Amino acid sequence: MKEFWSKRVRDMVPYVPGEQPKDRKFIKLNTNENPYPPSPKVLEAIKTTADDALRLYPDPECVILRQAIAAHACLNVDQVFCGNGSDEVLAFAFQAFFDKEYPITFPDITYSFYEVYVKYFDLTANLIPLNDDFSLPVERFVHEPAGGVVIANPNAPTGQAVTLDDLCRILEGNPEHVVIVDEAYVDFGCDSAVELIGEYSNLLVIQTASKSRSLAGLRVGWALGNTNLIAAMRCVRDSINSYTVDRVAQGAAVAAIRDAAYFEQTRRAIMSTREQTLERLKAFGLEGAPSQANFLFARHPSLPGKTVFQALRERGILVRRWDIPRIEDHLRISIGTEEEMDALCAALEEIVKDLTAK
Ligand code: PMP
Repeated sequence: MKEFWSKRVRDMVPYVPGEQPKDRKFIKLNTNENPYPPSPKVLEAIKTTADDALRLYPDPECVILRQAIAAHACLNVDQVFCGNGSDEVLAFAFQAFFDKEYPITFPDITYSFYEVYVKYFDLTANLIPLNDDFSLPVERFVHEPAGGVVIANPNAPTGQAVTLDDLCRILEGNPEHVVIVDEAYVDFGCDSAVELIGEYSNLLVIQTASKSRSLAGLRVGWALGNTNLIAAMRCVRDSINSYTVDRVAQGAAVAAIRDAAYFEQTRRAIMSTREQTLERLKAFGLEGAPSQANFLFARHPSLPGKTVFQALRERGILVRRWDIPRIEDHLRISIGTEEEMDALCAALEEIVKDLTAK
């Protein structure tokens, strides 16, 4: 079946994104998309860009977008790199900073794309198990020899965050290698490591417009770090494809980043809905730790995750779950609108009642 495939591709097990159903309408709480539309200014920007200049190549250096991101992050433009979603930015970073000789350390339970990149780029990994409560065993990241470190903060799918003090210890424990902090969900209540960039030349922070700015469909992500690290990212990009962020995406992302008021309003709404939802889930027996992300990670102590997942799906509600030891009974539930969370809570309460009565 895999005739003509290269050895590398033949042996790959690719990342599997959350389902995007087309057959029926679901309440979609499975891919951590933002339930609110993007800023109205984004739609205006898209119209203007599309009218103007689709026949031209985009600015490969994304200068205006980088200026907007730099202003928001209080950095210089040459400390910012933009890419086609943070997945691409992560892929470039793995190629820019990691070599095969030493393993890259990251937690056993984290964003599953990291393991896929390790395999695809022919690297090696040292997966460090999270503690039983899913907190990060910080000391192991400080002391174990590594060729680089990757930490999602807050972590996915657990929603738990590490403090900036702990990140400083990890950065200081790995002075010769790059520490990537993937901040896809940072805007939902976690402290950003961006303020440490001036102090640590080995820190690369990666962020995205997909979650807190409601632009998952646009595909814009960025890396923030020392100019030397940013230069390596550009070297990788320009060895593959200089034009990864199209004109419409650049214009729209600028509008989203400049609309600080809308960003504040929507992220605060999500955080508040998240807190209410966690309390409601606990009231009918689910267990879950506080989350700093736009999702909750919860389970019922006696019901199999697969059964609850399926029962929700039958009621038209999609959440995410993995067949992975230690988390197979957990569900990752993206935070939707208040109405969507009402529907989720009502369905879960019913499901728990039905299944525990049996
Ligand atoms: N990092 C983490 C931890 C994520 O969960 C995701 C979303 N799947 C990404 C990065 C990638 O996001 P995007 O490519 O949409 O920026």
